[in-house]
Amino acid sequence: MTAQIIDGTQLSQKIRAEVAQRASALTAQGKQPGLAVILVGDDPASHVYVRNKVKACEDAGIRSVLEKYDASLSEAELLQRIDALNQDPTVHGILVQMPLPPHISAHKVIEAISTAKDVDGYSVLSAGELMAGLPGFRPCTPYGCMKMIESTGIDLRGKHAVVIGRSNTVGKPMALLLLQANATVTICHSATPDLGYHTRQADVVVAAVGRRNTLKADMIKPGAIVIDVGINQDENGKLCGDVDFANAKEVAGFISPVPRGVGPMTITMLLVNTIEAAERI
Ligand code: NAP
Repeated sequence: MTAQIIDGTQLSQKIRAEVAQRASALTAQGKQPGLAVILVGDDPASHVYVRNKVKACEDAGIRSVLEKYDASLSEAELLQRIDALNQDPTVHGILVQMPLPPHISAHKVIEAISTAKDVDGYSVLSAGELMAGLPGFRPCTPYGCMKMIESTGIDLRGKHAVVIGRSNTVGKPMALLLLQANATVTICHSATPDLGYHTRQADVVVAAVGRRNTLKADMIKPGAIVIDVGINQDENGKLCGDVDFANAKEVAGFISPVPRGVGPMTITMLLVNTIEAAERI
């Protein structure tokens, strides 16, 4: 059996075309959606991520405001900037690229963003809305994973989903979204003694660990949906996920690759959240 590939790039193109239509409708009403992206310091990976986000905005007709600051920016100065962006009616979403320099509290900064503009969905209030099943911004990576799972056409009601990883930005929100979709959910983490015992029973596995070959073919139930969130490098420095893709695709029913998987979907859902923020205001 060879799995169907869940192509995140292809699915993204479809969703981004819908986003562009919604952006153009808002712009025609005199309300072009706007996303402010704040980058502090010179982390090379952050610069690449930010560039990709800004480019995706431009392609979709969303105005992006990129604010780059030196690593010496103080926490108070950053909080002031966020306050100004919270008040700015042309800015509908605010994203602060992580990581921040060590002298700035990421928690304080995230909590300073108005919930109405928290398009990353990282604030405690946004997390609470997700937990309570209330409308709100869902963190972009798990939100994108859900869209990928939905694209298989398989109803999650009564299915068993296993999430590997319990971070606040990926694992935990992912588990809540799967629960909302009526799956029975198990969360595994570094203290789970026998990971394969759980994953072998799963109709859906989402791997969000950050360690390559965490999920091997013999840990997958035949026909399962496998979503690979991990970003790692193989022994040749090539980008790879947490799943042993070459062998896992012979067992799974559907599988997302790395690259061309969750990565593009994460940016796509940021665009979706920004459009939703603009439509709500
Ligand atoms: P994280 O905060 O480091 O969390 C990793 C999780 O994996 C933790 O909960 C950890 O358990 C668990 N874990 C570690 N070793 C394990 C093991 N041997 N077995 C089972 N669980 C284990 O990472 P994250 O931010 O959630 O990100 C996870 C991966 O996704 C990373 O590779 C990251 O780069 C990638 N990512 C990709 C995107 C994208 O857009 N494609 C977005 C976000 C993240 P403990 O809690 O017990 O330590």
